Parts: sequence; structure tokens; C-alpha cells
Amino acid sequence: MKQPAVKSKQLNAFMIATFMLLTVVLVAISFSMSRTYRNLNELITKQAELQEAAYDLQKGSDYLTEQVRLFTITQKKAYADNFFKEVNETKRRDNALIRIEENLTNANIRSILENALEYSNELMKTEEYAIRLVADAIGDDLTKYDAAIQNITLTPEDLTLTAAGKLQKGQALVFDQDYTNQKVRIYNNIDTALDAILENTGRKMQEVENRYRVMMLLQNILFVVTLLLAILFIYLFTRHYVQPLLKFTKLMEKKEALTVEGSEELRIFAKTYNKLLEQIKTDQVELTYEASHDSLTGLYNRKIFDDVRTSVRDATMLLIDIDNFKGINDIYGHEIGDRVLQKLSKILSDNFRHEDYVCRIGGDEFAVIMMHVSSSLKSLVESKIKKISAAMGDTSDGLPFNSLSIGVAFADRENATEDIYVDCDKALYAAKDAGRNTYRFY
Ligand code: GH3
Ligand code: MG
Repeated sequence: MKQPAVKSKQLNAFMIATFMLLTVVLVAISFSMSRTYRNLNELITKQAELQEAAYDLQKGSDYLTEQVRLFTITQKKAYADNFFKEVNETKRRDNALIRIEENLTNANIRSILENALEYSNELMKTEEYAIRLVADAIGDDLTKYDAAIQNITLTPEDLTLTAAGKLQKGQALVFDQDYTNQKVRIYNNIDTALDAILENTGRKMQEVENRYRVMMLLQNILFVVTLLLAILFIYLFTRHYVQPLLKFTKLMEKKEALTVEGSEELRIFAKTYNKLLEQIKTDQVELTYEASHDSLTGLYNRKIFDDVRTSVRDATMLLIDIDNFKGINDIYGHEIGDRVLQKLSKILSDNFRHEDYVCRIGGDEFAVIMMHVSSSLKSLVESKIKKISAAMGDTSDGLPFNSLSIGVAFADRENATEDIYVDCDKALYAAKDAGRNTYRFY
């Protein structure tokens, strides 16, 4: 099946468009992947922050328990001061809740943690009451205590208690089962919240991870597609451009016609080149012909005559000159003169073999180099001369009568000089000297 030719313009446009599209998609995926990665990072950071805040809430609450218990046991005011420093300045629990509110969008978990703080605040009331009871019991100056302690009004029942009784009740309040239960309630709340946070972020992380995986897969697929396309383009380029060009180069070196193949442009190129090559070859044939032939008669010219006579040994030479040709021109005109020259050319061509060289070597001077002919064929040569002379003398064609003077030099002539042409010319002049319309052998 004949394939439609590839056009480089179309291939180029297709290549650029495809690679641009792939690049845009790949960039978009990379961008989305980095955003997903950032999301994942944020989630992890948020989770750590939330966990830390939840622990802080617990630690703050535990610290208050520890300090109030130490105060009730040792009655050292420093512990009560630590307690209020935590409540009023360090505020680990409140800060933790602020951080939780900032980072947590899940209302459910938030309310669990808010409850934990509320329970902790409730417990704080019990703890402050315990501090007040112990401060009273040891008869401390209440003005040295936090305003919260000063503002507590003891129940009428507690007001009747002795110092020992107040101390005992104060200790009992922060060590009894009720207190422990409340603490456990706070712990449970925080644990529940922490579990929920972990589950929540775990789920989100799973979602993000899934998205990331899909994008990775897409990216890999696109990468493979890009690679396959690149291979396809290389194949197309090699097949439609590189291979034909290599073939063209070899054919051009051999000066042969190009095979019409490859891309549309290369096909056009090959066709144009082939036309040009054809033209050059024709021109060359014409030039070669013109360089070797006489334009008036179509016979070999002087150049070929010189080339042949200097390169062959085994040949006999005839020099033929029209007698008084100048007179023909003068009497009948140049055109008739030309026709006489053409007549002689035809007669010579008809009377010699194809392997012989019939040449026009001057105005009315002709030469024949008879290949592989020696003096043994003297009578044959003579009969040809007579035939030619008779044909030239025949005026039935309307042309004026013409006689010829002919000189002959055989390849195996006696007293030969180096140059057969010189010897043959001497024979021709001998014929002219003898009164023309005759022939002489050297
Ligand atoms: P001879 O018997 O001594 O050979 O006398 P001739 O007149 O033939 O000798 P010459 O060589 O003087 O004359 C040759 C003439 O041929 C002179 C020239 O005008 C003529 N001639 C040369 N080339 C051409 C040609 O192409 N066409 C024609 N018509 N005449 C030519
Ligand atoms: Mg002449």
C-alpha cells in the first residue's frame, strides 16, 4: 500500500504541539504533586501540634493537681503560689485550647477538648476551696494569697470546723474518690480527643496519599507516552529524512538519478534533481557531439582527426580536397558551396565502414582514416576513390561538377617519415601538381 508522504511542516507542527501539550500536563501534575506534598506536610505538622496541645492540656491539669496536693500535705505556701502561677501566668491549659482551636476544624473533637478544659476548671474550684481550707487551718494571712482564695466563702458547716478538721477536709478534697473520678473524666476526654485526632488525620493522610499515588501513576504513564512519542518521531525522522538523504548522497556521488522517496519535500527535491541531471546529461551529450563533430557536415572534426591519427598505427590515411572550390563559391554562391561540401560528406560516409573515421579537417579538405587497412588493399582503396570521384562528378542532383584531388598514405608505406599525415599531404600535393582530378599514393 502506498503511504502518504510526510510533510516536514506538518510533522514539525505535530511534534511541537504534542510536546508542548505533554510539557503543560507534566508541569501541571508536578505542580499538583508538590501541592499535595505540602498538604501532607501541613497535616503532619497540624497533627503533631494538636497532639502536643492535648498533652499540654493534660500536663497543665496534672501540674495543678500536683501543686495543690503538695500544698495540702506540706502547707508550704510556695506550692499554692505555683498553683496560681500556672492558673494566671503559664496558662498551659488555656494556651493549649487556643492552639487546638486554631488547628482543629473538627467541631466534635473540639467540643470534647473544651469539655476537658471545663472539667479541669470545675476541678480547679475544688482545688481552690482546698487551698482556702488549708490556708485557714494554718492561720495564714489570706491577703498574701490570690484574690480567688480571698473571694471564697466557706460553707457554714466548714466554718465550724477546727483547724485540724479544715486541714483534713482540705486534703480529703484533693485526694478522695470524687477528685480522682473527675481527673479520670478529664483523662478520658483527652484520650478520646487524641484518638479522634489521630483517626481524623490518618484518614486525611490516606486520602492525600491516594491522590499522590494516582498522580504518580499518571506522571509515569505520561513519561512513557513522551518516551514512545520521542521514539516515534526519531523513527519518522530517520525514515523520511535521514535514510533518504543518505541514499541521495550515494546516488549523487555516482551521478545517478535519485529514487523518489521520503518526505514530500524530499520527493520534490528528488524530482527536481532528476530533471536537472537529465538536462545536464543531454547538454553534455550535445557538447561532446559539438566538440567532436563538424556542424555543417556532421562528420568528425579536426580535433578527432588529430586524436585518432596520433594514437593509431595500423591505419591508412586519405586526404581529399575539392579542386578549385573557391571558384564554386565565387560562381554559384556560398550556399551552393555548402551543399557541395555536404554532398561530399554523404558520399564519403556511404563509401567507408563504420569503424573508419571520416573527418572534415579544413574548408574543403577531408580526411579518412581507414582502420586496419594496409597496402595489400591498394586496389580496394583505388576502387573506392574512383567511386567517390564519379559520384562527385555526377551533376544529376543539380549541383555543379566537382573534381577531387586525393593523396593516400598506407600504414605500411615505404620510405615512411614519422608522421603519416605529412606523408599523405605530400601525396595530395603530388595529385594537385599533377593537374588535379586525380590521386597519388605516397
Ligand atoms: P585548390 O584546387 O588548390 O584546392 O583550390 P581551391 O580553390 O579549392 O583552394 P582554397 O583552399 O584556396 O579554397 C578553399 C575555399 O573553400 C576557400 C573558402 O572560401 C572555401 N570555404 C572554406 N570553408 C567553407 C565553407 O564552410 N563553406 C563554403 N561554401 N566555402 C568554404
Ligand atoms: Mg580545394
